[in-house]
Amino acid sequence: MNILVANIGSTSLKYRLYAFREEGPKLLAKGGFERVTDYAATINECLAELRHNGVLQEASDLDAVAFKVIVAKGISGCVRLTESALEAMEHFSRLAPAHNPPYIAGIRQFAETLPGVPLIGLFETAFYQWAPPAFRRYAVPASWQEAGMERLGFHGASHKFIAERSAQLLGREDLSAGIEDLYQKGPPAVAGEKPLRVISCHLGGSSSITGLRNGVAIGNSFGTSPQSGLPQNNRSGDLDPFALLHMMREENLDVAATEKLLCTEGGLKALSGGYNDLRDIKSQADSGNEQARLAIDVLVEQIRHWIGSFYLSLNGLDALVFTAGIGENNPWLREAVCRDLDQLGLQLDPTKNESLRGEEGEISSPDSPVKVLVIPTNEELVVAREAQRLLHHTP
Ligand code: ADP
Repeated sequence: MNILVANIGSTSLKYRLYAFREEGPKLLAKGGFERVTDYAATINECLAELRHNGVLQEASDLDAVAFKVIVAKGISGCVRLTESALEAMEHFSRLAPAHNPPYIAGIRQFAETLPGVPLIGLFETAFYQWAPPAFRRYAVPASWQEAGMERLGFHGASHKFIAERSAQLLGREDLSAGIEDLYQKGPPAVAGEKPLRVISCHLGGSSSITGLRNGVAIGNSFGTSPQSGLPQNNRSGDLDPFALLHMMREENLDVAATEKLLCTEGGLKALSGGYNDLRDIKSQADSGNEQARLAIDVLVEQIRHWIGSFYLSLNGLDALVFTAGIGENNPWLREAVCRDLDQLGLQLDPTKNESLRGEEGEISSPDSPVKVLVIPTNEELVVAREAQRLLHHTP
């Protein structure tokens, strides 16, 4: 079975093609296109590339195209992206203005280009279905809760991959298969063992932190939308709703202008005075730019805030994991996050930390009770696998 995972950005299309055989999933090809203006043309280019590389004979050799979709009203989990699912995504488009509209347009285009090929979405919110109600609930009227305004959580595919892989690396093979089967079988049974406590830090263009007990998410730093939680590259992250209402009145901002501001002019970009890539912010800070230094300090403070929250809920920690573009490649940021935590049992090995960039490994000192790991994430694999399972059960 061949499954193409398409990752759709507002001006990009990245893809990975997986083949599912007896021995498991195999990555056949990956690639991407930037500065996309015409999705129909880009999808055709992508299919042509796969034929040219010899991994596909015909587009009809695809058994499904799968997507890491963000949010829809009343839908989560792994589903067929029918027109009614797309309408449910449209209903929540303004919760994810940078994500839902391009995904909806891209999925419709795939449906047109590949009629008859199943289109499947694994919602990023699916991983949080077992988070306790006390974590999910906002203190708002019941009608808002019924409308879907609760802490949903995102980056589910990435944090699920980290849950599986960290269990393997920590010698908990008894759990890793159960975590892989989570969506089919529910939380894995744990017989008498001490629970496995992991905090996963997905730090990239979008960032979030999740607490994992035996591989099951107990919460996530994102709320109802992927604009919340930590400061994002150009999105504000958490903000007091009354500060928002006050500034809308003060600056005469309408809803659309406010949305645009929070979504494109917030986050690290706002803090640093215009830089939204952490590499640029770091080099600015190193050359004395005070705003850039503050942007880094705010990010580190917020990361530590969420780690602290999950550390308490988990009653301690077995491993802290760093992943995604920022987490995998920036030893200096990992050092700042882990600084002065020896009383919590967390000590980095400076040499190991410095040497590990973009690869998997342990960066804590050998006698650190809490392990610190770097694990490159693989969201596409999680998406492809769930799509394969959905097709297997309902061809
Ligand atoms: P996205 O969330 O858009 O998928 P990434 O996970 O690639 O993005 O994260 C982008 C962030 O990661 C940027 O802030 C960038 O500074 C940082 N990053 C990516 N690659 C590297 C690298 N090789 N070295 C340092 N930082 C990196």
